[in-house]
Amino acid sequence: MKFVYSPLYKADIGFHVFPTEKYDFILQRLRAEGLVDDGDMVAPQRPSDEQLRKIVTAEYLDDLLNYRMTERTYPSEMPVNKDIIDAQILCCGGSFLAAQIAFEHGMCYHIGGGFHHAFADHAEGFCYLNDVVFSAVMMLEHRVEKIAVIDCDLHQGNGTAKFFENEHRVFTFSIHQEHLYPVKQKSDLDIGLRGGAGDDEYLKELKGAVDHIFDKFNPQLVIYVAGADPYVFDQLGNLQLTVEGLKRRDELVLQRARDKAVPVATVLAGGYAENVEDTVEIHCNTARVMHGCS
Ligand SMILES: [Zn+2]
Repeated sequence: MKFVYSPLYKADIGFHVFPTEKYDFILQRLRAEGLVDDGDMVAPQRPSDEQLRKIVTAEYLDDLLNYRMTERTYPSEMPVNKDIIDAQILCCGGSFLAAQIAFEHGMCYHIGGGFHHAFADHAEGFCYLNDVVFSAVMMLEHRVEKIAVIDCDLHQGNGTAKFFENEHRVFTFSIHQEHLYPVKQKSDLDIGLRGGAGDDEYLKELKGAVDHIFDKFNPQLVIYVAGADPYVFDQLGNLQLTVEGLKRRDELVLQRARDKAVPVATVLAGGYAENVEDTVEIHCNTARVMHGCS
């Protein structure tokens, strides 16, 4: 299986709850296990400004390219600096590349991405540019007709939902904690869970949605947003899934895709465990499950 990765994703954002070092840790662990070697690694390319204009307004893009603090960049809750903005621009190229590779080979794991709170005209929730949106938009231009976004991050994929609200070729699904950031947009299918839901309730609800997506919508490509933050020891939420429960979540999505012969590009999104090693382990489990499916 191929892995899209760049050392530039580890951006200098100072002391922050978002651990950008997790990408390197994931790679190190997967390498140590022999799941990744040099031949499996693919480097992303930075999209052109013209390509980026497909997902953001000219005004907002101008702010980003000039690293300007404005009312559009400010809500990122990130520093407005070159390191992180360039990393997220590159990440758009990474998620697009992962989707292309998945479409050709079945599965691809992007060691990055999942910045699903970014909107066309402003940043939000640690996200400047929505790589999930970019990837889907670019794949639609590559004659892929039906794309499902399966967003299993703790938080609703509000930027993705808003961008595709009138695009029938992209089915947006989000399962998340209801009473939590962000202000919700309308996905094609939303499951908002109560705090403290835990493994069994989560997996039961997810199974119903996965049945619907694969049997009714019948996608040609899945973009899987495999956030690690539904975890019981996450600092930002309370869905209380165990490491094993999150692995079963991955199996539910990925094994169904394999059985239906639907390609999957996985992106990582959030993960704010008190111990970053837990976040890394949850993300590595997703890669292990994908490896078993490919
Ligand atoms: Zn999240």
